[in-house]
Amino acid sequence: MLQELEGAGKPARVLLVTDDPRTAVLIGEMLRAGWTTGLVVSHTGSVADATHELLDHGATCALIDLAGEPSPIPALEQLCATVSHIPIIAISDRSDEEFDVTAVRAGAQDVLVMSELNASVLVRSVRHAVVRKRSEAALARQALHDSLTSLPNRALFFDRLRVALDRSRRTGRAVVVMFLDVDAFKTINDTLGHSAGDLVLTVLADRFSRLLRPMDTVARFGGDEFTFVFEGLDSEPETALLAERIRASAALPLAFAEEQLSISVSIGVTIVTDPKTPLEDAIRHADTAMYRAKDLGGARFERFDAAPAAPPMPDADLEPALRQALARSELRVHYQPRVSLNGGTGLVGFEALVRWEHPERGLMEPVDFIPVAEESGLIVPIGDWVLEQALDQVERWRQSRPEVTISVNLSGRQLQDAGLLDRVTTRMRRGGHDPSVLCLEVSEEALAADPEAASRQLAALNEMGITLAIDDFGAGDSSAADLQQMPVHILKIDRTLVSRLTAGGADSADVSAAVELGHRLGLCVVAEGVETDEQLAQLRDLGCDGAQGFLFSQPMPQEGVCSLLGNR
Ligand code: C2E
Ligand code: CA
Ligand code: CA
Repeated sequence: MLQELEGAGKPARVLLVTDDPRTAVLIGEMLRAGWTTGLVVSHTGSVADATHELLDHGATCALIDLAGEPSPIPALEQLCATVSHIPIIAISDRSDEEFDVTAVRAGAQDVLVMSELNASVLVRSVRHAVVRKRSEAALARQALHDSLTSLPNRALFFDRLRVALDRSRRTGRAVVVMFLDVDAFKTINDTLGHSAGDLVLTVLADRFSRLLRPMDTVARFGGDEFTFVFEGLDSEPETALLAERIRASAALPLAFAEEQLSISVSIGVTIVTDPKTPLEDAIRHADTAMYRAKDLGGARFERFDAAPAAPPMPDADLEPALRQALARSELRVHYQPRVSLNGGTGLVGFEALVRWEHPERGLMEPVDFIPVAEESGLIVPIGDWVLEQALDQVERWRQSRPEVTISVNLSGRQLQDAGLLDRVTTRMRRGGHDPSVLCLEVSEEALAADPEAASRQLAALNEMGITLAIDDFGAGDSSAADLQQMPVHILKIDRTLVSRLTAGGADSADVSAAVELGHRLGLCVVAEGVETDEQLAQLRDLGCDGAQGFLFSQPMPQEGVCSLLGNR
């Protein structure tokens, strides 16, 4: 047992910290009397000396005599914090339970009373302290490392990044964050089995670790994702060179069974120069760049560049301009296809998305003006106009494709508007539209604002035969019970959830839960923001009914839809 304390053959080394030479001699003798294998006892007179000694030479265990210490607990605390890997036993001159508890909280493994000491008590205490410290260390290691690759895990990565960003706040030097994802990892797992997948991950972990300097971090972030933190890279070319080395090291051939696997990876790089950048943003930027690398075909790295911010325009200016936009015919409607995943990927309809062709700012996205429209109430006439345009268009398209439908967004403000039903009824009647052609989308957030009023309005629209969808599901926190109250037919899963579907399938739990919930309530489940083939494959696996996203098409003007339908 005692030999285990220092590995076979090596003596155990115990450091005594006491300013009383008599105590040092006494304890040294007790230790030697109780010890059966090799033992080296050394002695220092102060906590400061002990700290240096332990940092420089280590020890199996340290015993600190607190009797002569003017402020025993702070001294103990400081020592334990500085050499947290070495078990420390405190020795006090009186039996005092309160003091013992405080000493243990300060980091001591045990507290012994000088007058009660003998050889066997002392040796047993040392032995237990060492064993306990080892298992603590093993647990701490497990909690912060990935068991497959032994790399730091996500939690430790966050910690390292936080420390790096803090340091950059002081030094002013940039921090580089990289986000790496293995291309087509799911195919490797699916075709060659999980042991092949595991091998790929361990080999990559090993290759990446070898490339790095001791101060750098590579972590297994989850699934087939690795993340890196670098400090002190001084130039962009240096960063690019490193990303390229990492990419190339992953691409080296790898033997599995009889097969030669060729692996490629996509890497997103962000250079954090603004020390105020939040940690989450740094990771998100690297992740975004990684996705761009994937979109460009994978097997490459891409640098994140923040889109230049639009020239700031106070909302005060925006509102009167928006008021005139309708009259000046500056609004446009773009349409994004929605496809069915139930057998093939057939086109089932389009979603109408408004844009504003601002005379000075160019084509503006809804995020930049819908909030102003909502606040000012302008969303009511704008929404009405979008509805009219969309219904007119869909009737034209249905001449060649009678099955296509049109979805139009309703904001919370519109839902609270008492005149909504009248206006929709009038529109439908005037155009002679079949209500089943129209789907109205209401966001989870808009529903949550006033669930009772919302559910009354929706019930009336439902009566009319209009299809209803819950939009952006998963972005808010509505419950299954809330959903059950609503007379809706379609559940659209928010694109932030879909974007987390990675090649390894690590983060599919939220989407899977949403699909399950939707189906349990008898709803058709549609995923929005589908951008990659991997996401599509996973959505199919999860049983999702429909999809929308850049993978199929960006929103496009009406002319685009015509040529899309004409070409088919
Ligand atoms: P939404 O209803 O969730 O619309 C989908 C948004 O996702 C659209 O943004 C679309 O361009 C974008 N999108 C579609 N596929 C992808 C993809 O694969 N990746 C990514 N990253 N994005 C994708 P858009 O057009 O900017 O519209 C933003 C929001 O503005 C809409 O979100 C909707 O809430 C609101 N909105 C748009 N038009 C109208 C309207 O006529 N009336 C009302 N009340 N709100 C509207
Ligand atoms: Ca929508
Ligand atoms: Ca949406």
